Amino acid sequence: MKVARFYAPGDIRIEEAPEPTAGPGEIKLRVRNCSTCGTDAKIRRHGHHHIVPPRVIGHEIAGEVVEAGEGVSGWSAGDRVQVIAAIPCGECPDCRRGWQTICPNQESMGYHYEGGFAEYLVVPAKVLAVDGVNRIPDGVSFAEASVAEPLACVLNGQEHARVGEGDDVVVVGAGPIGCLHVRMARARGAKRVFLVELNRQRLDMAAERVHPDAAIASGEVDAVDEIRKLTDGRGADVVITAAASGAAQEAALQMVARRGRISFFGGLPKDNPIISCDSNLVHYRELTIVGANGSSPEHNRRALDLIASGQVPVSDLITHRMPLDDVLTAIDTVTEGTAIKVTIEP
Ligand SMILES: [Zn+2]
Ligand SMILES: [Zn+2]
Repeated sequence: MKVARFYAPGDIRIEEAPEPTAGPGEIKLRVRNCSTCGTDAKIRRHGHHHIVPPRVIGHEIAGEVVEAGEGVSGWSAGDRVQVIAAIPCGECPDCRRGWQTICPNQESMGYHYEGGFAEYLVVPAKVLAVDGVNRIPDGVSFAEASVAEPLACVLNGQEHARVGEGDDVVVVGAGPIGCLHVRMARARGAKRVFLVELNRQRLDMAAERVHPDAAIASGEVDAVDEIRKLTDGRGADVVITAAASGAAQEAALQMVARRGRISFFGGLPKDNPIISCDSNLVHYRELTIVGANGSSPEHNRRALDLIASGQVPVSDLITHRMPLDDVLTAIDTVTEGTAIKVTIEP
């Protein structure tokens, strides 16, 4: 079979590999869609401390069961499934408290295990043990189901930021994650959603699809001023930074209303993670700053339901479909910002 394998930064190869078989407790999938995201671009450029090469990457996985290994019940050939990316251990004190997203023993598909940029994939027993394989609801395509994983992360982020009824929400960053945040905020009852983005082309493309109440090109205007104007000087109830930018995080502190919540959804480059924060703003204005680290199996199930029910449509965000041979082009397209979601169909 054909796979896309990471060897070193800048070195991802499309090559032949033996077709895997499902061992005890595992299932084998024919991968139908594995979508790309900014993380793949990051891995391509810098590698990742959890990836020991060579490794088949790709973590936004949907496919069809072709074989269930010994001892597996509930799954059989032909079942349409979506697979989690982050695998909690299910046993540590954090997992037992229901905090699977911060499991210190977390492993990931496409990092510790072979990923979805392949014709076939074996789902490890560890994934099945934490209910990490979800049946794709009728009416949801494989391509849409592959977006459940990033949407699950967005859901986790908005739960922490308590996005809800009547909120004014700012999303900074108009990539695929930013677009999903806009849609999710609407689904959770936000009153208005404002989208802020540096790159004009990316902003226009996103705004055309997700229709924010205002689209603010932060390369052309002062986004903090704009948000203050739009909210009569009050600021936004929630600001979500979906960009790897310390400047965006610092601006978030200036955009948020009293009692507001800030989600540092996107992480910063690991060699430059320090920002300056006026702690008195947090103190006197009673601000809450929250993080977000991936998603739990439960978030993945709920994300699939949100897609199936139409509360969070994703099909129009999938702007490009490419064969496995074009994985590198797909990753370039993601980096350039000329696409929203690019999905690989191996
Ligand atoms: Zn991803
Ligand atoms: Zn754990």
